[in-house]
Amino acid sequence: MKCPFCSAEDTQVIDSRVSEEGDSIRRRRRCQVCSKRFTTYETAELRMPQIVKTDGVREDFSSAKLRTGFQRALHKRPVTTELVDAAITRIEQKMLALGEREIGSRRLGELVMEELRKLDKVAYIRFASVYKSFSDVEDFRDAIREVRDTK
Ligand SMILES: [Zn+2]
Repeated sequence: MKCPFCSAEDTQVIDSRVSEEGDSIRRRRRCQVCSKRFTTYETAELRMPQIVKTDGVREDFSSAKLRTGFQRALHKRPVTTELVDAAITRIEQKMLALGEREIGSRRLGELVMEELRKLDKVAYIRFASVYKSFSDVEDFRDAIREVRDTK
């Protein structure tokens, strides 16, 4: 790490400690050329990928939007908020674990469907019908059959 004062290449770590929360490391450094001291922090970079919509537009991931999607699909269905929260957390963790800068909205939609399928079959069909833009009764029949068969 370069010295921010004189740009010397070599700086020495004189102290290093983990933050109370355990999520960052603070290092005291001393420049071997000008002897000035400074502090650096090291944290894990966990950034949600951007969502690429089918028309190519990028937008920030929004868990509020995700929640709205769940609520719409689960309207008047007997599923607790706790279970919805857990599903949203699982989706967020999966997205982080991908380590990608951006993911397609289709992929996100599939993650949502995976969770809805476990939560509530009716909600799953509702979501899938909009998401996959079912065009006729045949599509519904196929989706319902699919859900029934994977029980
Ligand atoms: Zn220096």
